[in-house]
Amino acid sequence: MAVDFHTHLFPPWVQERHSELLKRDATFVALYSDPKASLATAEELIESMDRAGVEKSVALNIGWVEHALCVETNDYLLEAAARYPHRLVPFCAVQPRAGEAAINELARCAKGGARGLGELRPDVQGYSLKDEALLTPLVSEAMRWGLIFLIHASEPVGHHYPGKGTITPDQLYAFCRLYPDLPLVAAHWGGGLPFYSLMPEVAQALKNVYFDTAASHLLYRPQIYSLVTSLVGPDKVLFGSDYPLISQAEALGRVRELGLEKEIEDLLLGGNARRLLEKR
Ligand SMILES: [Zn+2]
Repeated sequence: MAVDFHTHLFPPWVQERHSELLKRDATFVALYSDPKASLATAEELIESMDRAGVEKSVALNIGWVEHALCVETNDYLLEAAARYPHRLVPFCAVQPRAGEAAINELARCAKGGARGLGELRPDVQGYSLKDEALLTPLVSEAMRWGLIFLIHASEPVGHHYPGKGTITPDQLYAFCRLYPDLPLVAAHWGGGLPFYSLMPEVAQALKNVYFDTAASHLLYRPQIYSLVTSLVGPDKVLFGSDYPLISQAEALGRVRELGLEKEIEDLLLGGNARRLLEKR
């Protein structure tokens, strides 16, 4: 059974307050302005998992700009994961600019069962991944709880799409150099960062970095799977769909039709995720 490392869940009130939130939070605007951009609840995700044959999903929040919205939506994720403890793994949101309040929220989420923070959006949330003074207290607290960071990433080149943003490989690399021991998942293949792991010093800085495959077919040709597994190692790639943007069944089908070696496919579709989630 597969593990999906990149799904998004929202409480039903987010759907009901859609137009209010579009006036209120820039991250919500970046991701959900398009009326076709769908939102899913825990029940819908579980149904999708049962249909697709997904055992566990990492249920991500989004990097809300407003601290209060992080807290309210984190409540829902923690509550949903408590209802489906063997199926959902919650990753909560924080706004690092909230300072002490963000650190307290991180600790509250960790105590409530969160396994990580994500999907962080420094570009829209308004901080730099190089801002050591802001980030060090948060990263230290996260490491104390054994939390994993999951950060959105995008390509510095190529077509524009809603939510693409500006978190490019150079910024992720700067962050990894500051915090090489923090387990980090760079979403969407890290915006191309794996290529630079051919440079020995980059490979060294990326020793605790994983790459998820979320929305892969909207960005890259299927060759990306064999290329990146050979660049960073098959133990560093995590299957992620980006549900509900992309159906889990479709995303899984696209990986299974690649004809990867069975052992590598098993690592991508669950082995790596299980190992990372169990490690503290
Ligand atoms: Zn993303």
